Amino acid sequence: MSEMGKKHVLVVEDEEDILELVGYNLAKEGYQVTKAASGEEALRLAQARVPNLIVLDLMLPGMDGLEVCRRLKRESRTQHIPVVILTAKGEEPDIVAGLELGADDYVTKPFSPRVLLARIGAVLRRPEQADTGPEKILTFENLAIHPGRREVRVDGELVDLTYTEFGVLHLLARRPGWVFTRYQIVDAIRGEHYAVTERAVDVQIVGLRKKLGEAGARIKTVRGVGYKFQE
Ligand code: CA
Repeated sequence: MSEMGKKHVLVVEDEEDILELVGYNLAKEGYQVTKAASGEEALRLAQARVPNLIVLDLMLPGMDGLEVCRRLKRESRTQHIPVVILTAKGEEPDIVAGLELGADDYVTKPFSPRVLLARIGAVLRRPEQADTGPEKILTFENLAIHPGRREVRVDGELVDLTYTEFGVLHLLARRPGWVFTRYQIVDAIRGEHYAVTERAVDVQIVGLRKKLGEAGARIKTVRGVGYKFQE
């Protein structure tokens, strides 16, 4: 592949070993790699030449990764760039904060290069923004979701969901594999019918799983972070 056709990834990491390891593996996979050892440098580089994706460590000296993410998402030139954050295990609040700032995915350290490459590949393959129109019927084996009618069927049988339960399911199922934080779920369905709190999201999920039976197993809990729908 020519340099021109290569996807360009900006890697932001202050730990040299990790920066080298990630850079090496990305290059081996055919990506063009730019490296930054600080948040300030990353913002400069991203502005100068917009990459296809940014791998962003959160623990950086000076400006931290969350601030970098915030600034990237504030600028029209950089706000569309997908961001995969790197964070240490056990730092779920940072993951939640990153996702709410608009990061697309995350990988916890220590990680294997293979896992990181897989995540990067998946994010780059994702269609931009809403993957499907809001009215599109979604089917996953025996589960069918009809947004127009706000109906859900499992094995052809109508499942009696509340308005909010339907909203949560539809939100998750429209973007399979994406992790949504509780706040993002609340934010997306708030005002549709009545106020939903972050804690109430858990209750909605319990109700949904129960009503969907086996198909409910597609709704995965991401510990300390939120929920996702498995395709
Ligand atoms: Ca670091």
